Amino acid sequence: MTNLIPIANDIDGPLLALEYTNGQKEPSQRLRMAPVDIANPSEEHMMLREMVRDWTKEFVEPQALEHDKHERFNLPLLRSMGELGLLGISAPEEFGGAGLDAVACTIVHEEIAASDPGFALAYLAHSMLFVNNLAHNGTDEQKARILPKVCSGEWIGAMAMSEPDAGTDVLGLGTTAVQQEDGTWLLNGRKMWITNGCIDEEGTPADVVWVYARTGKDAKGRVQLSTFLVEAGMSGYSVGQKIYDKTGMRASNTAELVFDDCIVPAANLVGEVGESLIHMMGNLEIERLTLSAMGLGIARRSLEEMNRYATDRMAFGSQIRDFGQIQRHIGEGWAKYRAMRAYIYDTANNLQIGKAGQRLDSDGVKLFASTAAKEIADSAIQVMGGYGYVGEYNVERLWRDAKLLEIGGGTLESHHKNITRDLFKDGDAITR
Ligand SMILES: Cc1cc2nc3c(=O)[nH]c(=O)nc-3n(C[C@H](O)[C@H](O)[C@H](O)COP(=O)(O)OP(=O)(O)OC[C@H]3O[C@@H](n4cnc5c(N)ncnc54)[C@H](O)[C@@H]3O)c2cc1C
Repeated sequence: MTNLIPIANDIDGPLLALEYTNGQKEPSQRLRMAPVDIANPSEEHMMLREMVRDWTKEFVEPQALEHDKHERFNLPLLRSMGELGLLGISAPEEFGGAGLDAVACTIVHEEIAASDPGFALAYLAHSMLFVNNLAHNGTDEQKARILPKVCSGEWIGAMAMSEPDAGTDVLGLGTTAVQQEDGTWLLNGRKMWITNGCIDEEGTPADVVWVYARTGKDAKGRVQLSTFLVEAGMSGYSVGQKIYDKTGMRASNTAELVFDDCIVPAANLVGEVGESLIHMMGNLEIERLTLSAMGLGIARRSLEEMNRYATDRMAFGSQIRDFGQIQRHIGEGWAKYRAMRAYIYDTANNLQIGKAGQRLDSDGVKLFASTAAKEIADSAIQVMGGYGYVGEYNVERLWRDAKLLEIGGGTLESHHKNITRDLFKDGDAITR
C-alpha cells in the first residue's frame, strides 16, 4: 500500500511523494502544477501568436469586409505571407518552410479567422491542403522543385478531391488517370468546389494542384486512388468556372476544374500508384484541426463583439447585459468557446503532422467546433439586434463563414460516421 504525501514546497506548489509501506519515499508529482496554457505551450508559440495577431490587425482586418462584399480573393495578401514564413509553416526548413508543429498551424488559422475566415480558408487550402501534403508525401525531387515556390508565395496551390457527383463518398470519384506508353499520365474528369482553384476573376488556374484520380482497382476489386501534381500550363488543364454567390467564405475563390486529356509527366505522380488513400486520410486530420481552429477564431471574435455591444447598448434604462436572456447568450457562448479551445489545443498538442491515426479527435474537434462557432456567431447577431445583421458589424459575415465549417473538409454527418466507426474499433479510447 502506498500513500501520496507532501514532502516540500516551492514556487510551483507542494511537491508530492509516494510513500511505500517500508517508509521509502519517491518524489512523484506536483499537487499544483505550474499553470499550462495549452494554446501557447512554448515561448515560440506565444511569439508566433503575437506576430500573426499584429499582422492580421494591420493587413487582414482592414480588407475583410470589402473582399467579402465583392467576392474577391486577395491574392497579393496571400503571397505576402511567404515573407513571414507562414505559407510553408509545416514544411521542412531545407525546402523554404518553417518546420513548425500542429499547434503552430492551429494558432495561425485561429488568429487569421478571427478577422477574415474567407481569407483564412484560402490560406488553409494553400498551406495545409497543398504544401503540407507535398511536404509529407512528395518525392525528394518534387519537394526540391516545388516546395520553395509554394513556401515563398511565387506559386499558389490547391487540392482537388471533390467532384460534381462525389464528395463524402470519396471512393466514388470519377476522375481517371491512365498511363500512356511514353510513361505520361492522361487525366480526365472534373473537380468541384476547389478553393484557390482559380486565383483571379479572369479564371487563371492555381499554379499547382494536388489532384486525386482513379488509377484502377486492387486485387480485391477496391478502387485505387493516386495523386498527380498538375501544373498551370499543362495541356488539358483549365478552370471550368469560378463559383459565385456562396453563402460565406466569399473572400476565397472556389472553382470547378476541368481535366480534358490532361497530360501529366510521370515525375508528377506522387508516391506509388494506388497509395493516395493514405495521403488523403493523413492530410484530412490536419485539415480538420485547422478548420476547427478557424471556428475558434470565429467564436472568439463573435464573443468579443457581443460582449462589447452588451455593455455599450442601453435599453429600458439598463445596459442590455443586465437582461437574463442576453446573459444566456454571453454565458453559453463563453463556456462553448472555452470548451472548443481546450479540445482543439489538446488535439493539436497530440497531433503529429504527416502521420495518420488521430482521426477520432480531428473529426471530434471539427464536429464540435464548427457548430459551436456557428451558434456563438448566431448569438452575437441576436445580442446586437439590427446592427448584428449588417456587414459593418462583422458578425453576420462570421456566421455565414461558420456554416461552411459544417460542410467543407467533411460534413457533420461524415464526422458522426467516422467517430462511431473508430469507437467501434477502439472503445477503450473512451476510458483512456
Ligand atoms: C466553399 C467550399 C470550399 C471547398 N473547398 C474544397 C477544396 O479545396 N477541395 C476539395 O476537394 N473540396 C472542397 N470542398 C468540397 C467539400 O469538401 C464537400 O462539399 C464536402 O466534402 C461534401 O461533399 P458534397 O458537397 O459532394 O456533399 P455530399 O457528399 O453529396 O453530401 C450531401 C449530404 O449527404 C450527406 N451524406 C453523404 N454521405 C453520407 C453518409 N454515409 N451518411 C450520412 N450522411 C451522408 C452529407 O453529410 C450531406 O449532408 C469545398 C466546398 C465548399 C462549399
